[in-house]
Amino acid sequence: MKLEPVIGLEIHVQLKTDSKMFCRCSNKGEFEPPNTTVCPVCVGHPGTLPVPNAKAVELGVLAGLALGGEIAEHSKFDRKQYFYPDLPKGYQISQFDLPIVKGGSLSVGVPAKDGKSRPVTVRFTRAHLEEDAAKLHHSDDGQSSLVDFNRAGTPLIECVTEPDMHSPDEAKAFLQELRLIMRYLGVSDADMEKGHLRCDANISLREIPDDPANEDWAKQLNPKTEIKNVNSFRSVERALEYEIDRQTKLWLDGKPPAEQTTRGWDDARNATVAQRSKEEANDYRYFPEPDLPPLQLHELADRLAKSVPELPAARRARLTSEFGFGESEAKTICDDLELADFVEQTMSELAEWSKPRLSFPDPEVARVAAGWMLSKLGGVLTDLKLDRASAKVTPENMAELIGMILGKAVTGTNALVVLSEMAKTGADPSIIAQEKDLGQIDDMAELELVAKQVIAANPKVVDDWRGGKANAIQFLVGQVMKLTRGKASPEVARQMLEKELSRLA
Ligand SMILES: [Zn+2]
Repeated sequence: MKLEPVIGLEIHVQLKTDSKMFCRCSNKGEFEPPNTTVCPVCVGHPGTLPVPNAKAVELGVLAGLALGGEIAEHSKFDRKQYFYPDLPKGYQISQFDLPIVKGGSLSVGVPAKDGKSRPVTVRFTRAHLEEDAAKLHHSDDGQSSLVDFNRAGTPLIECVTEPDMHSPDEAKAFLQELRLIMRYLGVSDADMEKGHLRCDANISLREIPDDPANEDWAKQLNPKTEIKNVNSFRSVERALEYEIDRQTKLWLDGKPPAEQTTRGWDDARNATVAQRSKEEANDYRYFPEPDLPPLQLHELADRLAKSVPELPAARRARLTSEFGFGESEAKTICDDLELADFVEQTMSELAEWSKPRLSFPDPEVARVAAGWMLSKLGGVLTDLKLDRASAKVTPENMAELIGMILGKAVTGTNALVVLSEMAKTGADPSIIAQEKDLGQIDDMAELELVAKQVIAANPKVVDDWRGGKANAIQFLVGQVMKLTRGKASPEVARQMLEKELSRLA
């Protein structure tokens, strides 16, 4: 029996607003003592009235536009009733039949074995606004639970996908791209570890027929399991893998899941745990929220359509076509908005500075530049225990250093020394190289003299080399580097040594 996983996600994204969804309480309650960012509105005292947060509506619409969704002209809020200790009002204000966004889709690259990526497109069913519930803290002995209402009323956008994913790695890649988009938009910090992005994963299996040419089988949807509490990218992958195994066994036993169920992901046990049979929508007794007027979003959508910024996929493509970065380099750069800005400014400076010697795109120059901006700079910052924000490397200085490396004005070894100094002091690389005498030796007569000295001082190594140990020359190159304090290019030093040695032979 061949089975195909069918996966859909429901993602709650915490919106980056100053205040809560329907009151003026601070939206930074997670950093405050419990139950201090609360008011009669967000804890649902009788007689209070909610007022929608205009900024939250804007961020929701912006996210909908960026994901290619259709913004509703008319939208409204509804009450979703259920009883739970974290829900002070006894209902949640959400949206039922008229969400702010319908449709949309997101194409993501799923990492493939050959180092490239495989495109997968995931459609969205809808996205709606709602308020978050409070947070329960359960005591370790399981005897008591405390409620912190600071989170009650936090604005969320819930994005619901169609069941378009078919493997855990597709779900993970999709979530990572969605998080990045939310960050690019400034809609949310979307930090999963902090609960700013939370995910429920729906999964079922279906049988692939022996003759899959008739495509009707691919529309078959079986009762799904909804996995709750998945709060890291790794957990999403592991929870889905676990559930695929569990459901596969049921299918092979001839007892595929007969009804929709909810299971929780237990990170410590590495397993999903049965929670309850899922409520149907009619169990929640949705009805229109009588205290809030409907939303008219036409004008807002028109206005915001012009302000959707460049999204990660477009930026990756542009960095590749403008400068010549490879696919994985472009991905690493664009996965971090600040890094992407730094790299782009550096490359623009480099292009300006090296005219007309260099012209872009140039994959070789991009490769060298990426190596210095990503791994070398990263290593220097780690050594100095600095982050990029506190290090003093400006794009102008970074571009100048890369220009010096490309123009062989400094060797790789000494460029690292210069870079470290740049990070500490913010000084100009050419000035550091001059002051510390780190410039690359371009005087061949000087280098020849050093090569001769090294050969004369190491007769045993020279004998080894003559005796056929080709690697022995590596030691001599090291000695030249040492005597020149890293100012000789290793390749040129090796050529010079080979020339001198063959002259002696
Ligand atoms: Zn409040």
